[in-house]
Amino acid sequence: MENILREIVEENRYLTGEGRVADYIPALKKANPKDIGICVVDLEGNTYKAGDCDVKFTIQSISKVISLMLAIMDNGQSYVFERVGYEGTDEPFNTLYKLDFPHIDKPVNPMVNAGAILTTSLIKGGHGERFQRILDLIRITSNNPNISYNEEVYLSEKGTGDRNRALANIMKARGMLDGDVEDILDDYFKQCSIEVDALDLANIGFFLAKGCEGLKSYGNIDRRKLTSILLGIMNACGMYNFSSQYAIEVGIPSKSGVAGGIMGAVPSNMGIGIYSPALDENGNSKAGYGMMKSLSERLDLRLF
Ligand code: GLN
Repeated sequence: MENILREIVEENRYLTGEGRVADYIPALKKANPKDIGICVVDLEGNTYKAGDCDVKFTIQSISKVISLMLAIMDNGQSYVFERVGYEGTDEPFNTLYKLDFPHIDKPVNPMVNAGAILTTSLIKGGHGERFQRILDLIRITSNNPNISYNEEVYLSEKGTGDRNRALANIMKARGMLDGDVEDILDDYFKQCSIEVDALDLANIGFFLAKGCEGLKSYGNIDRRKLTSILLGIMNACGMYNFSSQYAIEVGIPSKSGVAGGIMGAVPSNMGIGIYSPALDENGNSKAGYGMMKSLSERLDLRLF
């Protein structure tokens, strides 16, 4: 397996030169665009790595899967999806589009920023505790109790997060979002700044691939149903406005983040963690997509 992963890294390395590191959050500019790594955890828990798997980076939008999971465990499926939609969109991840349309009463899905900010607001516990509970769940699902957040990225996001502020304020004004906007955004910026490596992402993918097995409590939702929702939403919305093409070409439920991570889960088979911070025009890792496609083809992982 490690030989295959090494070949996949080498086949796709040229793509790191074709993408661009995110710069709208100033602290993210410091990433090395040449970094590229892939890690797989199989169903027995064996770990395989190739490339830059020990580089730490911020989880960014991949945290939206975990905040959605927690919001559902806290409130149940019906309540959460009365407040945020299920469907994909061809708009970019930070879009304000439609939020002020009179007939629209919720953000389109929990993987765009608007939907994720709303999802975070639904987590029980209030300011600070919401973030702590997301961090705790990321530590459990990644099997890494040492995970923490990156203060510099957090402050950089908070200092430049005017677009996310606009999203939260319009949702509050429209009656979609309850609570203190700045407090909710503070938890959201912090959850995006949680620092992981490719192995952590592969372990989160592995947790999902095993049907979310192993938590002490799931609230009032069955863990199989919870897994179906998370993988279904990742498949439909996890790669932003590239999700459908990605589903056709890769066929693995996945979630990307603007720091260059991709987390994938092949049900009852494996978890995949990828890092390569040079992004394409949709904000997805350029070489990351290439590696996912190669891996899916080489190991015949496509689910459909
Ligand atoms: N923290 C980022 C933001 O809110 C997350 C977006 C992403 O990873 N696509 O803009």
